Amino acid sequence: MAASAPVIILLGPPGAGKGTQARMLEEDFGLIQLSTGDLLRAAVAAGTEAGKRAKAVMEAGQLVSDDIVLAILQDRMAQPDVAKGIILDGFPRTAGQAAALDALLSDAGRKVTAAISLEVDDEAMVGRVSGRYTCAGCGEGYHDQFKQPASAGVCDKCGGTAMKRRADDNAETVRERLKAYHAQTAPLIAYYEGRGVLERIDAMGSIAAIRQGLGRIVQGVAA
Ligand code: AMP
Repeated sequence: MAASAPVIILLGPPGAGKGTQARMLEEDFGLIQLSTGDLLRAAVAAGTEAGKRAKAVMEAGQLVSDDIVLAILQDRMAQPDVAKGIILDGFPRTAGQAAALDALLSDAGRKVTAAISLEVDDEAMVGRVSGRYTCAGCGEGYHDQFKQPASAGVCDKCGGTAMKRRADDNAETVRERLKAYHAQTAPLIAYYEGRGVLERIDAMGSIAAIRQGLGRIVQGVAA
């Protein structure tokens, strides 16, 4: 990775808007979104060995083991486009992953530029996650209540008509995912605070307002 390429981490529970905002930062700053959830879902769909091991764990709302996640992430980080800089969405999620990321970056003469905590109310997250779906063609995100396409069932962005919902986006599994977040991932907020790279943003506002706030932070640290 180029020495000046920013490494931005988005931290926050399921439903905080990490994926939505990472896609927008990609558009706004030309960074590459790197979502371990997306990479794992692709591995499950492709039926790889890692995907087979991860499937049931993901459906139960628990965390996939560090060795599987790190192998998948390392493969992705070996591709040339990450030289533009990356936004990590859903990674790291454990202290072990954070340490492994530091080691991986330091081998490339890099370090974490900023870890941004998207701060939200847990209870609102169950409703946010349970109603969401995406365009199967381009990945644009929608929500039963908060963001319907202009024409029902037709993607605003690409015109596709196939929409999909994630197997783990139901109320019961979301509660498990929130528990996993608090037990294993939330401690990383203090870890990055101690390293002097933590930023916090109120993520209960509108998608546009959060995009603006994040844009200001990224501009400040990546300049
Ligand atoms: P996400 O799309 O980020 O909500 O991730 C969906 C599911 O994939 C999670 O509930 C976990 O089961 C798994 N997963 C994604 N990223 C990680 C990670 N960094 N570590 C462990 N499990 C992960």
